[in-house]
Amino acid sequence: MAVCLNRLFSLSARSMSTVGFVGLGNMGGYMAKNLVKAGKDVVVYDVNDASVQDLKSSGAGACSTPSELAGRSDVIVTMVPSSPHVQEVFTGSEGLLKSLKPGTLCIDSSTIDPAVSKDIDSAVRAAGGHFYDAPVSGGVVAAEKGILTFMVGGDADKFDQVKSYLDHMGANVIHCGANGNGLVVKLCNNMMLAISMIGAAETLNMGVRMGMEKKLLSDILGKSTARCWSIDTYNPVPGVMEGVPASRDYEGGFGATLMLKDLGLAELMADGSDSPIVLGKMAKNIYDELCQDEKFAPKDFGVIFKKLNEQ
Ligand code: NAD
Repeated sequence: MAVCLNRLFSLSARSMSTVGFVGLGNMGGYMAKNLVKAGKDVVVYDVNDASVQDLKSSGAGACSTPSELAGRSDVIVTMVPSSPHVQEVFTGSEGLLKSLKPGTLCIDSSTIDPAVSKDIDSAVRAAGGHFYDAPVSGGVVAAEKGILTFMVGGDADKFDQVKSYLDHMGANVIHCGANGNGLVVKLCNNMMLAISMIGAAETLNMGVRMGMEKKLLSDILGKSTARCWSIDTYNPVPGVMEGVPASRDYEGGFGATLMLKDLGLAELMADGSDSPIVLGKMAKNIYDELCQDEKFAPKDFGVIFKKLNEQ
């Protein structure tokens, strides 16, 4: 009897709560699919219709505008490229705010300017909703496996509710404090990541040119004090690891232009807080130059290895 009641309760709870997902790209596509796999009722929107159709064939419902999606959702996750896209999705003429239901939980996982996130927070509160910044780390492989790290900023009182949804897409969901703090942590992470990727690419290129076999070199560095994610998990040298962007000519993954955007946001934070970031600014210049070449700009950020290797 108790089992039946529990099941009835969970079925009705499931039918009561619909999750809207906006932005079905390299990351959002997998994240939304993991919500569907978890049994959530999911509706989606993306400007790219092919991505919407892909999610539809995985069991999600399709919406033709963010506004329609807001009218059908109790929880909304957004995962679009940058600040202007998030502004458009929320405040555009057919944006989420046009028909947001009071009490809706809005969770933005895009990496954007913390100041813009605070503006959106105010607008969502004014519309009767709750807003959290929840950028992610882990890359597309972690997105696919549902083991992302979420860095969450926003009111503590609804954090457990937010976490109950993010748990289906991540292995670590961490409350960082007030709105905007998740983004501060994320931008610190990505500045360090850019520096370490450039360091890994320069080092591996030099070692190989000195005659070391690329897999053996990577394996030893991955067990030594140079060990980092860019060497032991996301190695940028083609043929060292399977399943990473370097193994498929740097397709998919984390775009070099997205990394350049994050370095620009980190620079804004550094300038605003009088923090010296000599290496951070050098990394930004290096990715700026890389992205001026149309051969490299659309590729994963590990393509910095290819550029160095061709020099
Ligand atoms: P992506 O470019 O692959 O996907 C973005 C998606 O948003 C696309 O499907 C695009 O069509 C859609 N989109 C753009 N404008 C839209 C709009 N106005 N309305 C609806 N949909 C819109 O980007 P991604 O790699 O999935 O990254 C998304 C965010 O996550 C970025 O902020 C990025 O910095 C961050 N991020 C990416 C990674 C990664 O490894 N790719 C890792 C961590 C964080």
